[in-house]
Amino acid sequence: MKDRAAHDPRRPIDHHVQDTPQGRELVLALYTKGCQYRKCSFCALPLLSALDADVSAADIKAQIDAAVDSCPEAERAAVRRVTVFNSGSTVDQRTLPTEALWHLFERLAAFPALAEVCLDTRAEFVEDWELEGIQARLGGRRLTLAIGYETADERIRNGVLNKGLSEETFQKTAELLAAKGVRLKAYVLVKPDAELSETEAVDEAAATLEHLRATGLRLGLEVEAHLNPTYVARGSRLEEEFRAKEYRPPRLWSVVDIILRMEGKGLPIHVGLRTEGLAVKGGTFRNCGRCDERVAAALRAFSGSQDYDPLKGLDCPCRRET
Ligand code: SF4
Ligand SMILES: [Zn+2]
Repeated sequence: MKDRAAHDPRRPIDHHVQDTPQGRELVLALYTKGCQYRKCSFCALPLLSALDADVSAADIKAQIDAAVDSCPEAERAAVRRVTVFNSGSTVDQRTLPTEALWHLFERLAAFPALAEVCLDTRAEFVEDWELEGIQARLGGRRLTLAIGYETADERIRNGVLNKGLSEETFQKTAELLAAKGVRLKAYVLVKPDAELSETEAVDEAAATLEHLRATGLRLGLEVEAHLNPTYVARGSRLEEEFRAKEYRPPRLWSVVDIILRMEGKGLPIHVGLRTEGLAVKGGTFRNCGRCDERVAAALRAFSGSQDYDPLKGLDCPCRRET
């Protein structure tokens, strides 16, 4: 991560291509004013934004052009999905002007196999008119909104994580998405509360995934879960608990266990193992040190394939330790 003052506002924060259940995905992280909420206890993403400084629509358009133009032709041809972040809410016009968002959709013509666009946002910014405007520009490609739901437990979501998202707002947003034929990608945190043991964290995340699946079925809404093992982000409130030895990030085995609980339930699950360079030393999800790479690679492969079998064959003596 570069120092904010040194960041060129005409370059995106990051762009890379990865495998997902929907195929190759271009991830584009734009440099903007970023999140205006900035209160979630686990989050340091605003550090990747200009905070209170404005980034003009012209600069954001240049970032989009830079990312699209630097994507090699063969890679462009394979991209099925484009996901856009701005360390906040991409449909908050204060941070990502509509003009720049429309420019993004014009540049998507560069991806001939593109089937879906995914936009990251807080739920309260999702508006009827904007969804219609976006869909009109997508020419039949699918739209997904990615929302940080984190957990179905409201005490943890709002009391511990300070997410500021009521179940009622989430459900209303889900209803709007269902009515407009928009997909939902819901972020779910693994071990979001220092009070939870590893076993409780597995139960907690599995219950959240089950709740999301049930919400989708009830509303006729297509739902995908994005499972994020919690890491201790620099400067976040969670860092204090970690330093006081009150919080340990989850084991990778717990992530495996959560996924295995959902086998056969029809909920696509993507595992996010990136820390955006924001984790403090020793503050990431881990196993014993010997099997971490192997288990992380299997989780990444699962994200692309949705094949549960390779996860079942994983083992290490540390799996049985607590
Ligand atoms: S998790 Fe999202 S809403 Fe919360 S502070 Fe971070 S960027 Fe803002
Ligand atoms: Zn191990």
